Amino acid sequence: MERFDVVVVGAGPAGSLAARAAAEGGARTLLLDHRAELGYPVQCGEFVPANSELNDLFHCPELIADAFQIPPETVLRETRWMTCVSPYGHRFRFPLSGAMLSRRAFDKALAYRAEGAGAELRFPLGVTGVEGNLVRATGGATLEARVVIGADGPLSTVARSVGIQPERVLFRMITATVDAPVADEIDLFFGHEAPGGYGWAFPRATDLNVGLGVTHLPRGGTLERLLDRFCAHHGFGPARDPTRWWVPIGPPPDSLVRGSTLLCGDAANLVMATNGGGIPTAMMSGWLAGRAAASYLRDGTPLRQYDVEWKAALFAPLERAARIYRWGDRYAAYDPLLALGMRYIGARGLDSMMRLRWPSRSGRNS
Ligand SMILES: Cc1cc2nc3c(=O)[nH]c(=O)nc-3n(C[C@H](O)[C@H](O)[C@H](O)COP(=O)(O)OP(=O)(O)OC[C@H]3O[C@@H](n4cnc5c(N)ncnc54)[C@H](O)[C@@H]3O)c2cc1C
Repeated sequence: MERFDVVVVGAGPAGSLAARAAAEGGARTLLLDHRAELGYPVQCGEFVPANSELNDLFHCPELIADAFQIPPETVLRETRWMTCVSPYGHRFRFPLSGAMLSRRAFDKALAYRAEGAGAELRFPLGVTGVEGNLVRATGGATLEARVVIGADGPLSTVARSVGIQPERVLFRMITATVDAPVADEIDLFFGHEAPGGYGWAFPRATDLNVGLGVTHLPRGGTLERLLDRFCAHHGFGPARDPTRWWVPIGPPPDSLVRGSTLLCGDAANLVMATNGGGIPTAMMSGWLAGRAAASYLRDGTPLRQYDVEWKAALFAPLERAARIYRWGDRYAAYDPLLALGMRYIGARGLDSMMRLRWPSRSGRNS
């Protein structure tokens, strides 16, 4: 049986940052993924906020500087604005600096950075379960790890194996690319076009990443049909390479440590509930998980230190965002109410919500 200090399951943004931090901390680290090509198919809107914006959401500048480094060669375009569009087409625009990435290139770049730091990278190799320190892989292989890091996304096999079942709603997502004019603005569309969720149109280099995230499908409807209708309504070209996936929305769990297993990223339910973004929190939690594993192996620091650190950095804003999401969700089912609510809180209120804060007119600021 092969033995490692750390086995990281999943080479998405969370896993690659975890593997890099563990390897840099001196741990013999294996990073594995069941995909034949890392980062592909693309199951993402591909938008990330600028570091300065992220610092406004999470007050942990050192962690952001260490963990949230975007390989420049993976950036397709920088953006400066976000617009939220109401069910009747009213547009609420506010400044938001960010970048559109090629996730296909981004996931690879992060994984190769982990490899460059000394982690061993293996794919395609899937994990079917974790029992204590044993990691069962496809093909019947078993690996032994002193620490296992589950970074295997929203349907995490690792989380299920160790009995961590976060409270969440799994949004059904579909994403595709279309031909349409591009600008330095990302647009979110709310209302019946995306029941319970939102649609988006984000500018890549020369085309748009479009998609929908919904909590439920209309009777007899499919995600593909909803996407076709969405594209036709907004005058976008036909959808290319549509892909479905999931986004977990819910409060952050109380603990991400179970025995010698740590969870991070989507496997840990760390998506920002009011904007659906999960790349930055995946990178930050992954980095902290990898560092905690290395400290445990180096000097016996309890793995529970990971809970202390991710909670200090991420818990309060993520938990607040989950409460704001539940509050806003009451209005999401009825277009007239949703449109009225959006007009009432206006661009400033929507801006606050995207930044994981209560819209000021609701009177709550914590
Ligand atoms: C349609 C859509 C649009 C989105 N848009 C955005 C956006 O614009 N901006 C943003 O910030 N976030 C967005 N998100 C969320 C974002 O994609 C995730 O939060 C982020 O990818 C989480 O990173 P992760 O590393 O935790 O998980 P993932 O990126 O899901 O990586 C998990 C990895 O684990 C591997 N894996 C899974 N199971 C196993 C197994 N059993 N064995 C081995 N390997 C396994 C997978 O192949 C994958 O490579 C979007 C999500 C979706 C679905």
